Amino acid sequence: INVCLEYIMIGISTTINEFEKLGLNPSLIRVLEEEKFEKPTEIQELTIPFVLDRKDIIARASTGSGKTLAFGSTILQNTKKGFGIQALILTPTRELAEQISKALNNFSKYNPLEIIPVYGGISINPQIKNLRHADVVIGTPGRILDHLSRRTIELKHLKTLVLDEADRMLDMGFITDVERIIGQCPKTRQTLLFSATISEDIVRLSKKYMANQMEISAEEYVDQAKLIQIYYDIDDSLKYSMLKHLLQNEKSKLVMVFCNTRRNVDFVANNLIAMGVEALTIHGGFSQEKRNKIMNQFHSQKYHVLICTDVAARGLDIKGVSHIYNYDIPKEAKEYIHRIGRTARAGKEGKVINLVSSRDYENFTSVLRDNSLKITCEKTPFVERTMTKWTPTMRGRGSRFSNRSNSNRGRGNANKDYGRNYSRSNSHSTQGNRNREEGIPHRNRDYRNRNLRSQNNRNSRSRYPNSNKRRY
Ligand code: AMP
Repeated sequence: INVCLEYIMIGISTTINEFEKLGLNPSLIRVLEEEKFEKPTEIQELTIPFVLDRKDIIARASTGSGKTLAFGSTILQNTKKGFGIQALILTPTRELAEQISKALNNFSKYNPLEIIPVYGGISINPQIKNLRHADVVIGTPGRILDHLSRRTIELKHLKTLVLDEADRMLDMGFITDVERIIGQCPKTRQTLLFSATISEDIVRLSKKYMANQMEISAEEYVDQAKLIQIYYDIDDSLKYSMLKHLLQNEKSKLVMVFCNTRRNVDFVANNLIAMGVEALTIHGGFSQEKRNKIMNQFHSQKYHVLICTDVAARGLDIKGVSHIYNYDIPKEAKEYIHRIGRTARAGKEGKVINLVSSRDYENFTSVLRDNSLKITCEKTPFVERTMTKWTPTMRGRGSRFSNRSNSNRGRGNANKDYGRNYSRSNSHSTQGNRNREEGIPHRNRDYRNRNLRSQNNRNSRSRYPNSNKRRY
């Protein structure tokens, strides 16, 4: 027992020492002990001393790096309850605002503060009421501007402004809103800018609004060594069957399946649900209330599969995601990196599976331009063609379950044409399926397929210019 106690004491004092050295106060360290944070992450170690010294900082840190505590340290230690809004954190998405608010509320457990999220898509009146007593506000630019124009938010006591995921905010076109908000903050304040990438626009923004800013960079937190990235080159008509096959056969914990469009999210999710898979869906078409509810359900790990658009990719910290499926390949490496950042977090292992078909070639080529991404081609397994039950109708008319069974069941063949797993004879008969999978009206789909087919024939040997070394 004595030896055990000694170990525990050594463990605790190491924790205390490492965080204490950075300047964190005892009430915060107590929470970190309870959360079993053993030592500061790289970004915390690099930034917290300067953040607490009230320096302006640009930090290059990706999601999952522990940046909430990094910028939260000064807010939690320098905010006094009941003295007006002293910290404002701007985030690109509502989900991120909600997540940061929860994290900061937890960190401030032994030093309670009024920390409130403020974002659009939900009723403004409760926010107006809460803002009267708020000490710390985490918000999306649009709704904060709304409150500023209604004069329901008061920023004259502000001491710290945080621009979180700044690159994403600029990508999403929030630059003017962000600048208008900064214009209404007191000039003497600390400004902290956190961003996964530091573009010219970010540099320009920082020069304009920050004073003697320090630039700090942390390594990627996603552990590349523990992240396996593969792709299957498959026919459009087999994508869904392949996904279902992999979901059934891969040993996984939480799984996220990314699609590029809401229609594909609906297509994949409704068919999985019709087949008895308990899947959740999230995309920008849902009300904020619904989005929050779904994220909470996924966090609770009662459901293991989340089908989503990029709405869920950015900044969110979901523990236990072992697999990321790209049902559709995103347009750029930047989006791809944000998606894969949901797994292999905090030293855990993760796998990314890309389902690449002709409609993804252009996007996949663009993703592969990022040489840091190591994605290997995997031989396509034998896949039984699955009959899809749910098929989207024309836009605006809702959706239906189709009773027309597609009798054209095909069989995958593992050995053909680097994983192309359909035979010529059934490629015609599966046209209906192919159209259904994308949820695109048939005429458009055919046209696109024709273009891609002729393009593919021309480039059959070098479909992905940069990928040859990876594929063979
Ligand atoms: P963040 O990047 O702030 O969203 O943090 C990502 C995840 O890492 C969250 O679940 C945090 O609770 C967790 N985390 C943050 N700092 C540490 C740390 N020093 N040790 C262990 N986990 C941490």
